[in-house]
Amino acid sequence: MQVGPTGPLVFACCKRSERGGTMQEEKLQKSSAVLKDAPRRGLTRRSFLKATAATAGAAAVAGVALDTLPAAAEGQKPQEEVYQGICRGNCGGGCRIAVTVREGKVVKTGPILNEDPMENLICARGYTHTQRIYAPERIQYPARRVEGTPRGGGEWERLSWDDAIKYICDHWKEYQKEFGDSSIAYSYGAGTYAQNYYVYMRLFNSLGATKIAQENDMTMLNYSWKMLGMSLYMVGNSRKDQVNAHTTFIWGCNASIGTFNRWKYLMASRDNGGKLVVIDPTYTVAAQKADFWAPIKPGTDAALAMAMIRYWHENGKDDKQYLATMTVAPFLVRQDTGKFLRSDEAGIAAEREAGVATGGGFGLGMDQGEGKFPLVAVDEQGNPGLLKEIAAPAIEGEFVINGIPVKTAYTMLLDRCDEWTLPAASAKCELSEDVITQLAEMYLDGPTMLHTGFGIDHRGNGDGASHALCTLPLVSGQIGKKGAGVSGNLAGATTGFAGDNWMTVVTSKMKPGATTNMTYIPQIVEEQQWCGQPMHLKSIFFYCGNPLGSYSGTTALRKAFESIDLLVTADTVWSDTAKYSDVVLPVPHWFEYETYRTCPNDYLDFNDAAIEPQFESKPDCDIIRLLGLGMDLGPEFDYDNAGFHAMFLDSDVARDQYGVTWVTLKQQKHIKMAPDEFIYGNQFIPFATETGRAEFYFENPVPEFDKSRQLDQELYALPFQSDPLETYDTNPLLEKYPINLMTHRDKFKVHTAFAKCPWLLEIQPEPTVELNPIDAEKYGIAENDYVRCYNDRGFCVFKAHLDPSLRPGTAWTEHTWLDDQYKAGHYADLTSLACTHFFPTNTPFDTLVAIEKYELEA
Ligand code: SF4
Repeated sequence: MQVGPTGPLVFACCKRSERGGTMQEEKLQKSSAVLKDAPRRGLTRRSFLKATAATAGAAAVAGVALDTLPAAAEGQKPQEEVYQGICRGNCGGGCRIAVTVREGKVVKTGPILNEDPMENLICARGYTHTQRIYAPERIQYPARRVEGTPRGGGEWERLSWDDAIKYICDHWKEYQKEFGDSSIAYSYGAGTYAQNYYVYMRLFNSLGATKIAQENDMTMLNYSWKMLGMSLYMVGNSRKDQVNAHTTFIWGCNASIGTFNRWKYLMASRDNGGKLVVIDPTYTVAAQKADFWAPIKPGTDAALAMAMIRYWHENGKDDKQYLATMTVAPFLVRQDTGKFLRSDEAGIAAEREAGVATGGGFGLGMDQGEGKFPLVAVDEQGNPGLLKEIAAPAIEGEFVINGIPVKTAYTMLLDRCDEWTLPAASAKCELSEDVITQLAEMYLDGPTMLHTGFGIDHRGNGDGASHALCTLPLVSGQIGKKGAGVSGNLAGATTGFAGDNWMTVVTSKMKPGATTNMTYIPQIVEEQQWCGQPMHLKSIFFYCGNPLGSYSGTTALRKAFESIDLLVTADTVWSDTAKYSDVVLPVPHWFEYETYRTCPNDYLDFNDAAIEPQFESKPDCDIIRLLGLGMDLGPEFDYDNAGFHAMFLDSDVARDQYGVTWVTLKQQKHIKMAPDEFIYGNQFIPFATETGRAEFYFENPVPEFDKSRQLDQELYALPFQSDPLETYDTNPLLEKYPINLMTHRDKFKVHTAFAKCPWLLEIQPEPTVELNPIDAEKYGIAENDYVRCYNDRGFCVFKAHLDPSLRPGTAWTEHTWLDDQYKAGHYADLTSLACTHFFPTNTPFDTLVAIEKYELEA
């Protein structure tokens, strides 16, 4: 095994056992072909081992060969090189992949084993990249929809890159002149995680374009950011800390699939004697593995969480010490305004305090203003003062300070939870009082990790529930210590901050542009304004995503897109969005250009260019250069792929703390960038919020995007239980559409990525809908029948699978397939754009449909 100074990783005759390989590595080696006699470049095996000692790099290779290539002649050993690729869709994995190249073709992909076997996470998808690289659905060259043909009609004319860029830039310049900068918008999804993702922002920020933010399923993430200064993405305890949890609550989260990269750790904590508790309406794989499963009624999570808080307080089991020292519990809230009481209002002399950096918005949430007067608390005798001057602040009570009626934030929280007595919560959640009591007690049997995300927030009342769930660890004190806290899809991803120079998105031509999200596009198109400012959308540029395949409300989106002149998609394959565009630009597969990946583990990982970009595809950075120069943005865009990446990795932390640059990363491939033990939310690593405390009370809840909307400030200040937007018990629509259709993540796809891999289609060939047999019988549907689901928005045909573990009245389908893989219709057409507006998000679980048996045409 060798590595050249700037060349690929080259694996040959790798014998992990000589180095004391683990059982898992041995097993992988035995079960798979291990390359031998690969050509050596640069370093000897000995020097490679020395070179990689610092990074404890790759050790063994296993994989699946592409069997369509001709076999080597008799007796002739194939010349093979193995490169490091990073699999980087939105699964949370970020796995290191050994990419074997023979005679210029990628013939095999498999895992690169890590020094820590727990970090070996490759799944079936990781073995299928050969089929993705050579897929017939690759976009091969720039193309434009043939004039006069309908969008999605499939008639394209080939363009040169020069012509394609000129066409786009000429139109953009016209739009800017006539309709202003905001007429150009850009939309990015979760199709690719690497630095190209953000370098596009450099371009669009310089154009003053409208950002269509990615936040389509991020309510829980945004709450954790706002309340804890961390997100389930970026910062939290190291994901390895999960093994120290004595109790783990998996709440509304299909963890074995949806948070695949954490599942091994979740199982390890159970193997260590930990207890697994699952709260989920559906009997998921996680529920099957659980010690305790609570089949909660969908959409009632906030009521359960608030009942637990109420129970803890009533029984003296809340962690008053933690609340007093690490949360906003002691701060006083004015009863006349709902704002925190500040020193000037209380008549206490104090200087204004400068703001602090917060976790939200990639650490850019700094209060740059003149600062605010400090918040006020009271001591146990009710005397007001600054918190730092009070040895033992009261966390409960109501007072009158300087003539102003106030309550502590914790008393406000308890008041809010008061209605959720055990009987009330039991009736709401359809769980017995005994079960709720047991859940409350088990949560206290810590250290307890709460594992959630991408579930309860997919319903229209997910905001109050996200707030309630993020409050649980604070009241119980189950955070800020080993084995406790809030985790989720990508927790422990500390390199997200360590590796990236976020200022790359800024240039001297930076113009502040508007921000919205996809939910509001139909509204903007109809009203021709956004937040009180004129906005005439003329063009959307899509990258790293497939909104017409993966987002909700696609019927409404397509209708809105009809009014937008120029849709451009940069993608590797013909996604639903690419097919519906006016111009497409081909982007290489991940293993065809150099980049690096930060999240989700503790490492920075280099992604080699195993082969040249296929066909006429160009890496995103090259596209950004062409568009930047085409839009006359000058030398700040005159960089190649390496130049942009070097800039992006040039962060203070990477350079000064870890000595990492683009060059050293390219040499070493795999560099640890985070401490082994990272425990978040205590006196050593406090919360990255404005107060430095966990903020379960919001004094100023404003909508994230549509600032012109009025929110119910009192309601959004604290957790709350509300009805879902569509799937509530008294909705008259239930008569017409009685089934609640939800989605679940899929083992064999990541959103629509991997949807057409032939090997994966052998295992799961087509879209299915899972139905409870009681519902199926009612509609005369049997296993493997085709079923048409429909509502006022659209329809979709699936193959039926009967599953008695589903609650009657609910149905499940995979999220999601490409348009031409459904027999008819599309799942996303059934969903709506309805949302609440604090952290607006797609609400695909909040969907009512009718079902009927469907006869395929012969
Ligand atoms: S799809 Fe995700 S889990 Fe599977 S190999 Fe790729 S990164 Fe790893």
